[in-house]
Amino acid sequence: MTVQCCKCKRIRQDGRWQPTSAATETPASHTYCPACLLEANVAIFNERASFSRVRHARDILKSLAVTLPA
Ligand SMILES: [Zn+2]
Repeated sequence: MTVQCCKCKRIRQDGRWQPTSAATETPASHTYCPACLLEANVAIFNERASFSRVRHARDILKSLAVTLPA
């Protein structure tokens, strides 16, 4: 079965990620190619980092007896 990146749509052939031609519409198993996997991990990391910044800000406000709506 063809292995295709769910993001950039490239397909893995002989261990290499190749651009898909519109003609190859075979059933595919979806995954991330290494480049998109890295990109996705960076996005998750940034999301977590911003979440922890919000939490940190809430902790500071709490220590100042300021409450924010949940
Ligand atoms: Zn990709």
